[in-house]
Amino acid sequence: METVTLNNGAKMPLIGLGTGQSHPGRVKEAVKEAISAGYRHFDGAPNYMNEAEVGEGVREMIDAGVVKRDELFIVSKLWCTVHERHLVRQCFEKSLSDLKMDYIDLYLIHWPMGFKAGDDMFPVDSDQETVSDNTDFLGTWEAMEELVDAGLVKAIGVSNFNHFQMEAILNKQGLKYKPVNNQVECHPYLTQEKLISYCHSWGISVTAYSPLGSPERPWAKPGEPILLEDPNIKAIAKRHNKTSAQVIIRFLTQRNVIVIPKSITPGHIKANIQVFDFELGEEEMKTMLGFKRNWRFLFYEVEYKAQGLPVSH
Ligand code: NDP
Repeated sequence: METVTLNNGAKMPLIGLGTGQSHPGRVKEAVKEAISAGYRHFDGAPNYMNEAEVGEGVREMIDAGVVKRDELFIVSKLWCTVHERHLVRQCFEKSLSDLKMDYIDLYLIHWPMGFKAGDDMFPVDSDQETVSDNTDFLGTWEAMEELVDAGLVKAIGVSNFNHFQMEAILNKQGLKYKPVNNQVECHPYLTQEKLISYCHSWGISVTAYSPLGSPERPWAKPGEPILLEDPNIKAIAKRHNKTSAQVIIRFLTQRNVIVIPKSITPGHIKANIQVFDFELGEEEMKTMLGFKRNWRFLFYEVEYKAQGLPVSH
């Protein structure tokens, strides 16, 4: 597995297994399957409601001697309701214990905004407006830095941060650790060229989530584009004797973007890392960048919560 060297010197595998929307009861086997197939990077979060199962899968493979903990790269995230400084460590420790680990490789602030603390992950008022916790993510960042100092996490980063929000962290007075990574939605319909070049210019790696267009998302509406069925992508795939999914993953990795396709299907898990035996030419890369339409498959969850739809990110 190829890796990206982060600005703290650690190496992050270029492809990881996404575990959001992975059904409980299936994700443990998916993790084990992935480790056998060669995955070493796992992307999770407590609000995917399956971190303990991810941890079980990893633990069983370590105990079976298939892989060592230090060969793995485990990512978790801090949810919006725990941005208050005194809640950060507590929330982190819950993930650590669910994962059955004594450190995490990368811990991300999941979204830049903080919500009112409590059991409700999406607190809304009577007008269905999100209730803020009035925190500033710069304070949350300091609490994240403390986790590094405590030796509990190797690296910290952010997710869903735009370039102004990145800039706010980079310009923060007394910044101790730069983010090593920004995880954002990215695929051929949302190519994120400006944000990626901004992050890369600061030595900050970018991870692409929903790279395959999140076809199982519960909030999909009829008529929305289906990335994996795009005829132009299919044509490129056919030329290389690959699938659309493989071409999309290759397209992102060729841009030095880390990719975390979610899968619980063994055939897909294996296929999604078989992308290092072909290359997209310069013209093909340009053509694929031209498929952009600033389309987001994931819009702000509170909106679909307000519509009574299930949420998992
Ligand atoms: P993806 O774009 O990764 O799509 C996953 C879907 O594609 C599943 O239905 C999967 O089905 C299917 N699939 C996977 N491989 C193939 C293949 N080779 N051929 C055909 N279909 C395939 O969606 P996600 O939205 O889940 O994004 C990936 C990950 O990104 C998440 O799991 C999560 O870890 C992370 N994420 C982070 C967010 C954030 O805010 N930071 C937000 C959203 C996601 P099957 O399981 O049957 O293979």
